Amino acid sequence: MKTSHGTEFNVAQLLKDPIGGRRSYDVEISPDFQEEELRQSDPLIGTVEMLRINRGVLVEAALDGAVTVECSRCLRDVRYPVTVEILEEFQPTVDVMRGTFVAVEEEDAALLINEHHVLDIGEVVRQALLLAVPLQVLCREDCAGLCLTCGKDLNLGPCECSQDATDPRWDALAALLSEDE
Ligand SMILES: [Zn+2]
Ligand SMILES: [Zn+2]
Repeated sequence: MKTSHGTEFNVAQLLKDPIGGRRSYDVEISPDFQEEELRQSDPLIGTVEMLRINRGVLVEAALDGAVTVECSRCLRDVRYPVTVEILEEFQPTVDVMRGTFVAVEEEDAALLINEHHVLDIGEVVRQALLLAVPLQVLCREDCAGLCLTCGKDLNLGPCECSQDATDPRWDALAALLSEDE
């Protein structure tokens, strides 16, 4: 078992194998995703299995890690643990024996093995991570969020706006209520 630290694998030898040929890799990868909503906190660790199939290489991977996302209420950074599972077929663009380009049926460029026989799981991992992270993540279940008026983080305590009502209509109401007392 080899340990790989990137998302790229040279599969030239595997492509020369007969159908059923296998490779296993221990991986620890830290791809640098640029998306605002997807900053990687911990490296993704797991195994990548590759199987030589008729049309190319079947990749099966299970990776655990964590990403940093913003709390939907208070916008604080939240570390969100994720597990991504991948099962994808990658197709060569070059015949490894003859060195000639082959007709490609696959339309998704992320699933093509390049002319140097490099198979890159980076884009597939990125897409799987995006699906693994829910749209709404909270720093904690009862996050108080931000005040809609002043923007203060209400987890840190009440803000000025909630203490003194500035709307004159409330002053009138308060006066009526105090008359009743
Ligand atoms: Zn929050
Ligand atoms: Zn406020």
